[in-house]
Amino acid sequence: MKDFNFSAAVLHWFDQHGRKNLPWQQKDDPYRTWVSEIMLQQTQVATVIPYFERFMQRFPDVTSLAQAEEDEVLHLWTGLGYYARARNLHKTAQLVHQQFNNQFPSTQGALEQLPGIGRSTAGAILSLSMQQRAPILDGNVKRVLSRFKTVEGWSGQSTTLKTLWQLAEDFTPQQRVADYTQAMMDLGATLCTRSQPKCSVCPLQQHCQAYQRDCVKSYPQPKPKKQLPTRHAFFLILRNQQGEVLLEKRPAQGIWGGLWSLPQHEDQHELITNSEQQLQGRIEVTDQLSKVRHTFSHYHLTMQPLLAKLDGAPAQVLSGQQRDWYHPKQLSGIGLATPIKNLLDSL
Ligand code: SF4
Repeated sequence: MKDFNFSAAVLHWFDQHGRKNLPWQQKDDPYRTWVSEIMLQQTQVATVIPYFERFMQRFPDVTSLAQAEEDEVLHLWTGLGYYARARNLHKTAQLVHQQFNNQFPSTQGALEQLPGIGRSTAGAILSLSMQQRAPILDGNVKRVLSRFKTVEGWSGQSTTLKTLWQLAEDFTPQQRVADYTQAMMDLGATLCTRSQPKCSVCPLQQHCQAYQRDCVKSYPQPKPKKQLPTRHAFFLILRNQQGEVLLEKRPAQGIWGGLWSLPQHEDQHELITNSEQQLQGRIEVTDQLSKVRHTFSHYHLTMQPLLAKLDGAPAQVLSGQQRDWYHPKQLSGIGLATPIKNLLDSL
């Protein structure tokens, strides 16, 4: 592994298979490189090519773009999406025109000051059109490096991003930086693709950690799922003298919409008091059953079932079809929320 020359392998592959005839590769021109890089963000090469050609016909240099009306720039962008890119492109053209005498700045720091140009885009402009050694880390390169070195964590986290930038920096060669940059983009776009990587023909295969460990699909690691909050509620399993259980029909909107469920409340005292008022009887809690955890899309619910009996005569249900007594053995005809059904089945 120590002897493996990453950039040499990538460049060797590029010489045979890399893309060398893309319209923005025909001249070493920071303006063309910059426009293509912005268009290529979140967009595939095949989609970008006709847009790039139309754009260059109308705005062949930074001056023509700077002097255009924003509406016309947006019009030529129509269909590419992410319109903030086009607005930033226009603003940057005006800044380069007014403050830099139509010459793109040639340092990483100065480029990154311009609207819409981040560290990777600045690296691409410097390496592809000015032959400066500057790493890039677009989505394609992140994927290749994450797999090659089985980089743990999501690239939106600063420690993971730092690791990836360090790898990008370490692997960028001193020579042929433009070819190397293009090669990495091509390798990510054509071989090390998101869902069907072509590892069998990849020049990195022998040293790629994800391939060697047979875990390519696990990298790059996805954004961690958000931690869901946990809510708690008491559920009343109230039985009358016939052994029937009181059920309520839930409102059409919201969780378990339109299904039958048990009376519930976050507060035990409120649950009992409300139910006593509605049923005009006295409720006695006889037992607490084991808690049940249920997960909805936005939260976990810890359900505390309370076994209770209704003392006194009234078993009349007050509000028509929204509340009724059901025998736990005869629930097949009604729509029940699954955790409630499980709970009643276990009685
Ligand atoms: S071997 Fe497969 S996973 Fe590794 S860099 Fe090549 S294409 Fe990507």
